[in-house]
Amino acid sequence: MGFLARILRFVFWTLVISWGIWLLKRLLGGQAQDGQAAQEQHLDSSTASGKRLVRDPQCGMHVAEELALPVRMGNEMIHFCSQECRDQYLRNTQKLAANA
Ligand SMILES: [Zn+2]
Repeated sequence: MGFLARILRFVFWTLVISWGIWLLKRLLGGQAQDGQAAQEQHLDSSTASGKRLVRDPQCGMHVAEELALPVRMGNEMIHFCSQECRDQYLRNTQKLAANA
């Protein structure tokens, strides 16, 4: 077999394999994209309902934003589940600030 024929055979198989990979990716990728789209839709519907959950940094509990106690700390808002958690958190941060 000539050198050119070997190269042609190599190129042919490279094309066949890359086409096969492309086809496989399209089959698998199409399914993955469908799953992602469904997930995004789910997220959209949960945020649209207005039930955003915020995390209480004191006890680690998740509270609905509308029920939480918001406290402004510098540029960010922190939400607490109760007044006790808020007071405790503020006491702790003041302690940390005093130690620093
Ligand atoms: Zn709490």
